[in-house]
Amino acid sequence: MKVKVAINGYGTIGKRVADAVSLQGDMEVVGVTKTRPDFEARMGAEKYSLYAAIPDRVEAFENAGIKVEGTIEDLLEKADIVVDCSPGKVGAENKPLYEKAGVKAIFQGGEKAHIAEASFSALANYDDAVGKNFVRVVSCNTTGLARVLSILKDMYSLKKVRATMIRRVVDPKEDKKGLVNGIMPDPVKLPSHHAEDVKTVLPDVNIVTTAFKVPTTLMHLHSIAVEIDGDVNPDDVIARFEEEPRIMLFSKEEGFTSTAKIIEFAREYRLRYDLFENAVWRESINFHDGELYITQAIHQEAIVVPENIDAIRAMFELADKWESIKKTNRTLGIV
Ligand code: NAD
Repeated sequence: MKVKVAINGYGTIGKRVADAVSLQGDMEVVGVTKTRPDFEARMGAEKYSLYAAIPDRVEAFENAGIKVEGTIEDLLEKADIVVDCSPGKVGAENKPLYEKAGVKAIFQGGEKAHIAEASFSALANYDDAVGKNFVRVVSCNTTGLARVLSILKDMYSLKKVRATMIRRVVDPKEDKKGLVNGIMPDPVKLPSHHAEDVKTVLPDVNIVTTAFKVPTTLMHLHSIAVEIDGDVNPDDVIARFEEEPRIMLFSKEEGFTSTAKIIEFAREYRLRYDLFENAVWRESINFHDGELYITQAIHQEAIVVPENIDAIRAMFELADKWESIKKTNRTLGIV
């Protein structure tokens, strides 16, 4: 029997999670929701059964000629789990619906950690989600940091991590907000909340973070410095990253001079140019005066997609950590 998955909020993350679920043998999409009868709703209805996220909007969809099968409540009756991909903080408003329907739920990184029994990033803490009813997949930035740090933690004794995030200001489709010409400290008061978020999945890592927004939509960039007890050969780190499918190494020598070039590569490589992997610059990996340096880019629209699939498997105890990660990697083409 396949796990029946509902997607509440067919937006940037929701449409990607829906497509990823469809590629798995042990789960299936029973429906997706939209709040408004826009072009994304029309496209969603062509691929999946569409439901109205807000019950009194059914008529609006019908008036626009978009077929809906019912409301979110109807959809929850058919589902074993709902992946809430609504905008940040809206998931908390939706949670009582899920509790009432008696379905498990996954929330995204825009929600506060206490919404769920566990925060989740597959490499860092798969087992914390096993058998749980409510899980939060951490944000794109936190996922990017958690992957790299969980690998390094297994290799070395980490003393302190300092990470600066240079964040894309909005996603490409967002035309209502943005930053046209400037660099925005966000937050101004430091450190940023990202470090605390990393600790929700890697509690014993000593980390401090800062963050700035810049006028780009393609990717985030992280500058990471890790103080390590003892000596590090950067080649060992490169070799370990080469082995890890969820990390992809890029090299300046090959022409990857910026995030623009990484996305240009991804445009040929995957549907929607989704890079599910951390994009790490090979030459950036260097050890100097007790600190390991790494520069990586994160495709914010895609990186949490495999984590949502692994979270579903953990919550239903369908597979152990490595079995799930391997299945997800294979089906999404993460090699
Ligand atoms: P989005 O705005 O692209 O999509 C949100 C969708 O939810 C839209 O289709 C919207 O119509 C729908 N929606 C609005 N109100 C709703 C409601 N009450 N119930 C159900 N659906 C509703 O947003 P997104 O970028 O996909 O973000 C979704 C979540 O994922 C947020 O928590 C966000 O923080 C997190 N996240 C986003 C990114 C990213 O870069 N886009 C990365 C990682 C995590």
